[in-house]
Amino acid sequence: MSDHQRQAIVVVGASLAGLRGAEALRDGGYDGPLILVGDEPHKPYDRPPLSKHVLAGELPPEATALPQLTRLQAQWRLGQPAVALDRERRELRLADGATLSYAKLLIATGARARPWPGAGADLAGIFTIRTLEDARALRSALARRPSRVLIVGAGLIGCEAASCCRDLGLAVTLVDPNPTPLARLLGTAIGATLAGRMQEFGVDLRLNTEVQAFSGDVGQVRRAHLLDGAVIAADLVIVALGATRDTDWLAAAGLVADARGLTCDAACRAMTMTGEPDPGIYAAGDVARWPNPLTGGHLVNVEHWGNAVDQARHAAANMLAPPADQGPYEHLPAFWSSQFGLNIKLAGLTDGADALAIVQGSRASHRFLAVYGRAGRTVAALSFDQARWLPAYAEAVATGAAFPPILGATDQPRIETLAPGFPSPRRSSNRAVPALEMAHA
Ligand SMILES: Cc1cc2nc3c(=O)[nH]c(=O)nc-3n(C[C@H](O)[C@H](O)[C@H](O)COP(=O)(O)OP(=O)(O)OC[C@H]3O[C@@H](n4cnc5c(N)ncnc54)[C@H](O)[C@@H]3O)c2cc1C
Repeated sequence: MSDHQRQAIVVVGASLAGLRGAEALRDGGYDGPLILVGDEPHKPYDRPPLSKHVLAGELPPEATALPQLTRLQAQWRLGQPAVALDRERRELRLADGATLSYAKLLIATGARARPWPGAGADLAGIFTIRTLEDARALRSALARRPSRVLIVGAGLIGCEAASCCRDLGLAVTLVDPNPTPLARLLGTAIGATLAGRMQEFGVDLRLNTEVQAFSGDVGQVRRAHLLDGAVIAADLVIVALGATRDTDWLAAAGLVADARGLTCDAACRAMTMTGEPDPGIYAAGDVARWPNPLTGGHLVNVEHWGNAVDQARHAAANMLAPPADQGPYEHLPAFWSSQFGLNIKLAGLTDGADALAIVQGSRASHRFLAVYGRAGRTVAALSFDQARWLPAYAEAVATGAAFPPILGATDQPRIETLAPGFPSPRRSSNRAVPALEMAHA
């Protein structure tokens, strides 16, 4: 049978998870037709540098292309969103009307930046950071030296953008409804140390308040109006309110999919509305929501680079395996971030943590290793410029060791347990809340 007569494996979403999944299919011995469908016009590129080196002007946007690690021999359908899925016919429809039939499908459609939801959204000078085009446009706007940059949302991407803008010598105001930056991700006990660092770097932090609206002159943003009554002059705005999973195109597919993602079983197979996994459809990366055995089987989305790679490889291996050999995907979530001269790394999930201990260094020095506990178990380990012992603590997280884990690696005379200080969930008046804990924004 020729390749053209055989049904293909189709990968929808030609970014990090799509690429690494396709490579894993080839590495796993799949030699049939392989099609990658992507709505962006580019071959896969890397997003983490977009809010760091690209924004800082240290890396041209086109230098973010992801290396191809295996000869793919794939057909690329770029600039072509998939718009509908017919599971009965095993067919995918593209925006140009073409249909593709598949033997198996890997969904890796990721997420897109949440746009500014309030008044003033149509003004020029308001940016998000998710795509290469976003980064290009923002970079050239920054190069025109705005008099003040206002960033909405002190999640990871908002904080990284603030750091880059200060490095560029630009005046920066960062607004967030929580008491500290990264409050939902790391808690206020750690967030307060980052707030101090930001202030040392000259960021105008506006916390416990939120932007209600933007206003401008002749179509250009000029002012942000805050809930506390403050009006801040700003001619460039970066909206860093997290991302929504790209599942709209699956609306009529009979799968469990919404803005929280595409729900899968532990083996990364997409769940149908009837409660069974579809044996031909798998998902990986930011779009996937799955019961992670390492987090007690709760459904989680992990919007981090390492997960996109590992989950795509796992899903691809399962796609090639007989059902009985399709193992669960166990992943210890982890991310890194660089900002304000600090290298921040987290392993594990801080969700629901009720205790925090600094096991090395000190918050005052901004060099420390901290662990989070929940109900007496170690659930996450965090390093601020102190990553040497992180793998050992990450191991304690993976094995659910008692909190705080005693590894003989502490330099503290006495390990003190603190409250991490997670803000209670709140909803802003304009729904412009920062991303959830795991979202990289
Ligand atoms: C600015 C930024 C900085 C980041 N920094 C870090 C970091 O420091 N550390 C870290 O761990 N993680 C970081 N991340 C997160 C990391 O980049 C993501 O987890 C990763 O990109 C997820 O890969 P993915 O392939 O699942 O999804 P995506 O990268 O979102 O790719 C999905 C692709 O599918 C396409 N698509 C969507 N819908 C369709 C459709 N219907 N048809 C066809 N194609 C479609 C999209 O256009 C996109 O190209 C960052 C993310 C951003 C945006």
